[in-house]
Amino acid sequence: MKLSEVVNSGSKKLLSKKILSHKLDSELLLSKVLNKKREYVILNFDKKIDEPKIYEFNKLIKRRLSKEPIAYILKQKEFWSKNFYIDKNSLIPRPETELMVEKLIDIFKNKKISILDIGTGSGCILISLLDELKKSKGLGIDISKNTLAVAKKNAKKHCSGANIRFLRRSLSEIYHCKFDLIVSNPPYIKTIDLKNLEDEVKIYEPKLALDGGNDGLDVIKKVIYKSKEILKFRALLALEIGNGQYKKVSNILKKNNFRIEHNIKDYKDNTRCLISSYIKNL
Ligand code: GLN
Repeated sequence: MKLSEVVNSGSKKLLSKKILSHKLDSELLLSKVLNKKREYVILNFDKKIDEPKIYEFNKLIKRRLSKEPIAYILKQKEFWSKNFYIDKNSLIPRPETELMVEKLIDIFKNKKISILDIGTGSGCILISLLDELKKSKGLGIDISKNTLAVAKKNAKKHCSGANIRFLRRSLSEIYHCKFDLIVSNPPYIKTIDLKNLEDEVKIYEPKLALDGGNDGLDVIKKVIYKSKEILKFRALLALEIGNGQYKKVSNILKKNNFRIEHNIKDYKDNTRCLISSYIKNL
């Protein structure tokens, strides 16, 4: 069989399950089997492929048919121009999180700051920030041991300096240190809404990374309360929030003596990130 035929057969199967990215996914899965880049597949459509490889390819297509996200099958996801190692123990990095990273880099470029990333997951936020803010240092924490293994793998892959650390810690275990920036993309989906998420997310992504409790704000509140203890005066808290949580979260922030400095909107014009500064005893 030619590469083009293999891609088309995979693509057809994925389309039958209404997977919109069927063609792209099929090309990516074939490139994974061939251990080449996607461009190779496209440029070599007429090349032949042997049976064992077709068998391997069909196995991957089957996984995708059962709605496993492409990032988990490929074990990678691009974020802020870097290829992150990803597996089922970590949330798949999202483009809206890149908007928060972009703004923070803009605010802090050329500065020397200390950063805490709460619920670091794959480490994508902290690693991307430190890659640009070279003089700064950062600590990423997560309560899941398996998730931290993912972050550490990514740090090994992308970070050369000793300015980054990942530790298995809960928020209550962070004390005796103050930060210039606390950043978090916490779980913010209401427990009751989890069942309505698309299969890709609901079946495969870690619940711990998604479930924000009854009102979706459990972890957001914890992060805000704790930040008051461990942020330096006028330092920043950057929070990714869910669609429609803007009002509630900004009220909680204001009540706790934070001043909203920036709100960042996603591509659909929803506020998805709030950057606020901590003004003590206002
Ligand atoms: N910080 C990671 C990310 O933004 C993980 C977030 C999470 O698990 N809720 O992708």
